[in-house]
Amino acid sequence: MNLSCPVSFEFFPPKTDEQRQQLDRTAEKLRSYQPRFVSVTFGAGGSTLNYTPETVRHLRDDFGLCAAPHLSCMGGTRAEIRDLLQRYKDMGCTRIVALRGDMPSGMARPGDLRYASELVEFIRAESGAHFHIEVGAYPETHPQAEDALADIEHFCTKMRAGADVAITQYFYNADAYFAFVDAVRARGIDAPIIPGIMPISNFSQLRRFSEMCGAEIPRWMTRRIQAYGDDTSSIREFASDVVAALCRRLLEGGAPELHFYTLNLAKPTVSVLERLQD
Ligand code: FAD
Repeated sequence: MNLSCPVSFEFFPPKTDEQRQQLDRTAEKLRSYQPRFVSVTFGAGGSTLNYTPETVRHLRDDFGLCAAPHLSCMGGTRAEIRDLLQRYKDMGCTRIVALRGDMPSGMARPGDLRYASELVEFIRAESGAHFHIEVGAYPETHPQAEDALADIEHFCTKMRAGADVAITQYFYNADAYFAFVDAVRARGIDAPIIPGIMPISNFSQLRRFSEMCGAEIPRWMTRRIQAYGDDTSSIREFASDVVAALCRRLLEGGAPELHFYTLNLAKPTVSVLERLQD
């Protein structure tokens, strides 16, 4: 497939047979877009600890994809994180997405490392230059930040701690991305900042999720989608047009590539990618 830009895809680790089959169908369809890499999210604690490494191995061995694990420090001890890093090294992984994570309800202790910047520092101290490290960025400000400027400063600290690249939280307002990149560049950080793109599949779910993670859905988009009522095919067409237009604007404005949050579904991402083909 001839795309005008490099892409990467994000998946979550499946936990049931049905989810496994869905991921396989999605990976099969999306690999034809020759992603630079795919990443696999991570949920802290207990049995979920194995799901991410197993999914990384599966995507690499059975689909030939360059697969990178996400690693979050929330709830983990230094020793646990060290073990996981060693496990990824032994598997031959050289790329990692390093995050603070969020405290799952019921979890009693936050972990040895408080912020993603401390995790990046720890990974560099433990593994030197072995891993290519990507971190999260928030063009519309992380929901727990004291304020937008403090958030930008913390982001820069995280990059200076040794991160190579940042991937943003999703957003639908290109200006937020450009303003964030300008602010970060003005502070001397010139690492690539890759926009995270969320194709729209289930709008009510997206609205709920966006409130939690601090991503704004523009009023005009919400009103238009509401006006389509139950006409799901018009909603899909409209949503794909809007997201593809956002991608084009980002690329024209200098975004180096695009990272798609697939939610393990092929259709919404393919529908956007088809609109971006040469
Ligand atoms: P940080 O960079 O540590 O920032 C968190 C907050 O702390 C911000 O408000 C920041 O301003 C503040 N802060 C940072 N440093 C300081 C300081 N020194 N003093 C005071 N405040 C400070 N979550 C998962 O659980 N699993 C995943 O797989 C996952 N994948 C993600 C992938 C991407 C690309 C993105 C953007 C997010 C992902 N998340 C994931 C969500 C992420 O874990 C949450 O958004 C989390 O709340 C913040 O993570 P962070 O790494 O950005 O944190």
